[in-house]
Amino acid sequence: MTAIKIQKLNFSYSDGHTALENIHLEINEREKVGIIGPNGAGKSTLFLHFNGILPPAKIKEPSIHVGGIPLTTNNLLKIRKMVGLLFQDPDDQIFCPTVWEDVAFGPSQQELTKTEINSCVNNALQEVGLAGFEKRAPHHLSGGEKRRVCLAGVLACQADILVLDEPTSNLDPRGRRELITLLGKLKKT
Ligand code: ADP
Ligand code: MG
Repeated sequence: MTAIKIQKLNFSYSDGHTALENIHLEINEREKVGIIGPNGAGKSTLFLHFNGILPPAKIKEPSIHVGGIPLTTNNLLKIRKMVGLLFQDPDDQIFCPTVWEDVAFGPSQQELTKTEINSCVNNALQEVGLAGFEKRAPHHLSGGEKRRVCLAGVLACQADILVLDEPTSNLDPRGRRELITLLGKLKKT
């Protein structure tokens, strides 16, 4: 089964700058793929299309399918539940006064009990090595710690597809190794 299928995707920003031109991409279920390119190549722009944050030019003739579902306005909510996206800049993702609330935001939008939300948040914080940070203010954390808060928030949503934009930037060597191990473990489970 194809997890993400993109055909003939074009995208220009409102200032007229063309960031994506004729993109074709197929990623299968259970695949772990790295997308590599220089600054400005369009990686972040592409990732923002995976769950419809940036709409493709022709949403009526969908150029993107996620899990076989065409990315159209009607399917946006369904697709956003399937794709967890870690933004390149943590400051674009963090908005709650405490780490706990920030990580709990995604799960609390789903139909989960309080106990289930608690367990999602606690597991995610544990996985990124931030147990004990629950009451801290995310905006006072270091760059690497903020990155981990965002990653925990994405993991806590338990999406089928994880899209991570430069996930190791700002992490120290140990944080990088831990993240790579964690991603390997997630792929297995
Ligand atoms: P990457 O993530 O590969 O470094 P981006 O997707 O961020 O690249 O950017 C791709 C191109 O689109 C770059 O030339 C960048 O300057 C441009 N770009 C990114 N965001 C915007 C925006 N909001 N408005 C106009 N141009 C943008
Ligand atoms: Mg980028």
